[in-house]
This record gives sequence, C-alpha cells and structure tokens, in this order.
Amino acid sequence: MILGILKESGTETRVVVLPELLPDLTAQKVEVLVEKSAGAEAFAPDEAYAEAGAKVVSRKEVFEKADVLLQIQPPSGEDIGSLKESQVWISAFNPLWETGLVKTFLEKGITTFSMDSIPRTTRAQAMDILSSMATVAGYKAVLEAALRLPTFFPMFMTAAGTIRPANVLILGAGVAGLQATAIARKLGAQVYVFDVRSAVKEEVKSLGGKFVDVEGATEDKDAGGYAVEQTEEYKKKQQQAIDKQAAKSNVIICTAQIPGKKAPLLISKETVERMKAGSIIIDLAASTGGNCELTKNDETVIHQGITIIGQSNYPAMTPVDASRMFGKNVLNFLKLIIGDEGALNLDFEDEIVKGTCITHKGEIYNERVKSVIENI
Ligand code: NAD
Repeated sequence: MILGILKESGTETRVVVLPELLPDLTAQKVEVLVEKSAGAEAFAPDEAYAEAGAKVVSRKEVFEKADVLLQIQPPSGEDIGSLKESQVWISAFNPLWETGLVKTFLEKGITTFSMDSIPRTTRAQAMDILSSMATVAGYKAVLEAALRLPTFFPMFMTAAGTIRPANVLILGAGVAGLQATAIARKLGAQVYVFDVRSAVKEEVKSLGGKFVDVEGATEDKDAGGYAVEQTEEYKKKQQQAIDKQAAKSNVIICTAQIPGKKAPLLISKETVERMKAGSIIIDLAASTGGNCELTKNDETVIHQGITIIGQSNYPAMTPVDASRMFGKNVLNFLKLIIGDEGALNLDFEDEIVKGTCITHKGEIYNERVKSVIENI
C-alpha cells in the first residue's frame, strides 16, 4: 500500500503524521509519499521525512499514486475532483455537520474515514483525535485568557497588598473543559464548572474545581456519555445559575457541545453586559454556533469592554504536540486497516473501522451520519 501525507492549507499549521512515526509504517511494509513542505509549519522539514524513509513529491504525484490519502482538514473541491474511486480519503471532516460533503463523497463512490467519528469506546481511546485535540484546546484557551486578562490568575500576597485570584467559569466538563479546569487551577485561579452531566461532578472536584449544581438535567444513558437537549424549564434554571456565576467571573471558557447539533446557547448578550469590563470569554464551541450569543467564529469581538474570542482551532497554535498526538491517533487507526505485507485491508466487521467509515462504494457506514443524512 502507498500512503500519501498531504500538506494542509490556509491557517492550518499541523501535519497529519510527523516523521518520527514513519518507522512504524515502513516496518509494516507501507510505502510513504509526502507532499513537499507538508511538515514545514510543524517544524518537520522535508529532509526529516526523507531520512525516515518517505519520498517527498508534489501534491499531484501524491494524488496520482497513493492508495490512502491522509490530511487533517477536509478536502478542497479540487482535491475531491482529483480523487479516484479506488482511493481512500482519511481526515477529520465533521460529517454530522458537513452533510453536503458526505453527499459528494457518496455520489463519487469514494471510500472515506473521518477521524472525528471514531467510536468513544475504551478500545478506540488511542485513536481518539477529539480527545487529543480537546486536550490541546483546553490548555491553550486558558493560557490565552491568562495572557489577555488585565488582572492576575493567582492570588498574590505582596508588600504592595493582596491581589485576589481570578474567577474562571468553565461551561462544559468534557475533555476540553476538564483540561481547562486543571490548567486554570494550576495557574491559581478559582474555578467554577458547569455541565448537564452529573457524572462529571466528581472529576471536577478532584481537579480542584467547584461544580455549579442545577437540578433536573435530562441525561440519556444511551447517548454514549454525551449530553442531550434539555427541557425549557431546565434551560431557564440553568440560565439563572450561569448568569449569577458569570457576573462574578473574570474569564469564561465555553466548551459545551452536543454532537451533530448546534452548540447550546448559555451566555446571552445581557449576561455579557453584566460582566466586569476587561473580562474574557473564550468560546471553543464557536465552529458549531458558540455558547455565547455574541461569539463570531474565528473572530474576536469586544463588547462593552468584554473580549469574546471565537476560536475553534487552538490545536493549530501548538503544531508540534498537536501533530504528534493527531499522528499517533491516526497511526493506531491505520494499524486496523493495514493487513499482511502492508496491503490495505478494510474489515467492516470491526466496529471501529465501520464506525469511522463515512462512505464506501456509494453507501454510508457510520450509523449516526446515515440517520442524519436520511432525515434531511
Ligand atoms: P463534547 O465536546 O461533546 O461536549 C463538551 C461538554 O459539554 C460535555 O461534557 C457535555 O456534557 C457538555 N454540555 C453539553 N450541553 C451542555 C449544556 N447545555 N450545558 C452545560 N454543558 C453542556 O464532549 P467530549 O469532551 O467530546 O466528551 C463527551 C463524553 O465522552 C465524556 O463523557 C467523555 O468522558 C466521553 N469520552 C469517552 C472517550 C472514550 O471512552 N474513548 C473518549 C473521550 C471522551
């Protein structure tokens, strides 16, 4: 099998596989083609790929010769035009949201895997790019907030007086929210965390955060550990609790998401207006609509002295470790589809292969994506 590593475009600085992982692939008799400068922005020069056993070629040659094409970002229209039915495309293209792209893949009969659809099971943990990238995002969001805040995060007792610690409110205690809790605590802030899943209460406490309790949340055991839509009555109670806490917060980190749906709206314009001038809101849910009414995806908005940062791509600001984690997840997944002598072996009996496969020979394999497309 020939594997093609493509260069990302736009503001993306990561590369899907760093040279340090290539020996694992070549040991499995996989031939690797790398697009020229693919790793440049992640500080992985072409020479490092060549030394690790890959052949550095043009994008055109990767598309012409590779059996499996790897990239982090979704393909461009031009990429889709160059793909052949016999090829396999692997990237993270958010198929529950990007349904038009899924339909194009279907029509063209291309085999695609979306790394953000890896089942959230124990066996698949080592392939879970959502967790890896959420870890990076949670970390970086807190650092950005700390740098921009006009006050300190920790409490300081100095000869010039005592400085009170910052109050940080974290909405959503999934992977990003818990990471943000841990980092904000390490920086000395007081951290309050809110989530609709009561299961996270203990985790928040063990990281030193205080859980904001709102009774009556709807939980669904069959939602695979994810949150579900809440009742109107609960939303009202939740709004009051968040409002109260937000007014006292110097920083709010928004991470609340519901897979395949618009992110829940948790911070209204009025709530923002009750916050102290100089406060910072970082909305990691910006790409799916944001948790704050004033969020604009990929933009920074200043409203009455409050800075609202709609940033969904913190991993691209930490390109080396983010690429390292992404690549390791991809490599662990590739092991499931590389057979004897490095040949491609798609075993759809394997729940991880089937769950991650979005389209194959004109059919949708991932059940959730299938039901979303059927119900459009
Ligand atoms: P996510 O990005 O989908 O959502 C982030 C958080 O937002 C979640 O904790 C969710 O409960 C919360 N949320 C949603 N609506 C909300 C609302 N209205 N108000 C407040 N909070 C709200 O979540 P994620 O980080 O991808 O993880 C979700 C779950 O998956 C967790 O239970 C996690 O432990 C589990 N998980 C399992 C594995 C695995 O076993 N392989 C890997 C990673 C995560």
